[in-house]
Amino acid sequence: MQLTVLGCWAPYPRPGEACSGYLVKNESTVMMLEAGHGSFARLTKHIDYRQLDGVVITHYHPDHYADIHCLRHAIEGARRDGRMENKIKLFIPPKPSEIYRELAGFTKAFDVVNIAELPTSELPAALPGELTPGSSSSVSAKTAQLNELTLYFIPILHILPGYAVRISQGKQLSLFFSSDTAPTPEISRVASNVDLLLCEASGLNKDADKMAGLHMTSRQAGELARQVRAARLILTHFWPEYNVDDLLAEAGEAFGSAVSAAEQDKIYTLP
Ligand SMILES: [Zn+2]
Ligand SMILES: [Zn+2]
Repeated sequence: MQLTVLGCWAPYPRPGEACSGYLVKNESTVMMLEAGHGSFARLTKHIDYRQLDGVVITHYHPDHYADIHCLRHAIEGARRDGRMENKIKLFIPPKPSEIYRELAGFTKAFDVVNIAELPTSELPAALPGELTPGSSSSVSAKTAQLNELTLYFIPILHILPGYAVRISQGKQLSLFFSSDTAPTPEISRVASNVDLLLCEASGLNKDADKMAGLHMTSRQAGELARQVRAARLILTHFWPEYNVDDLLAEAGEAFGSAVSAAEQDKIYTLP
C-alpha cells in the first residue's frame, strides 16, 4: 500500500501548494482521501483521474472537499465524451445536510455512499490481533469495502461532524487518518497498532487552549502515536504560518521516536 501526499496545508495553502489531499494505492485500488483546494491538480500529476476507484471526504470544511467540484466536472466531461464509462464511488458524511444534498446530486459523476448508512462493525472483533493487547472496550465503526481495502470510519470531535478513517489491506497493513479532530478514546482504539498514523498537527502546544475540542496539537499527535503504538507517524494539516520543524520537534518528543512531516508529492510505502 502506498500513500502519496497531494497537499498538507490548512486552511489555505502555501504558494504553489495544496490543502488536504492524499492518494492511497495498492495493486487493486486507487483511492483519493480528501479533496482540498488545489489537490485535484496535484492528483493529475500522479495519476489519470479516471483510474480512481473511490474518493473519501471526511468532513465539509473546504480545505478537505473544495476540489470535489473539479473532479466532478472532469468525470462528467469524460463520460460525456465517451472517455470513461464508470462512475466513481464517493464516500461522504451526511451533515451539514445542505452540502450532502448538493454532492449527492452529482449523480453523473459519482456513486454516492452516505457513510452514516454503512453497516457497523464492532471492533476489535473485526480486527483480530491488530488492536492493543489487553484493552477490553469495543468500539463500533462504519465499515466499507473498496476492492481489497477495508475502510473503518469513526466519528471525529471537531467543529463539523465527520469521520476519521482506518484503511486496512487484509490484516497486514493499515493506515489511520485522523482527519480534523481533538483526541477521543474511540480514535485511540481504532488507530491501535497502525503501520502508519497520518495525523493532523494543527498547532503548537502553546496553542492547546485554542485547539481544545477541535483539533490536535503536534504534541497530542505524538502522544496518540505513542499510545496506539503506531509504527510510523506522519504529521499533516499545517497552518502555513508555522515553522514545520517546530511542530516536528514537539511531536517527536511526545512520540519518543522519529516523526515525518507530510511533503507534497512524496510517496510513502507501507510498512
Ligand atoms: Zn481542516
Ligand atoms: Zn476541519
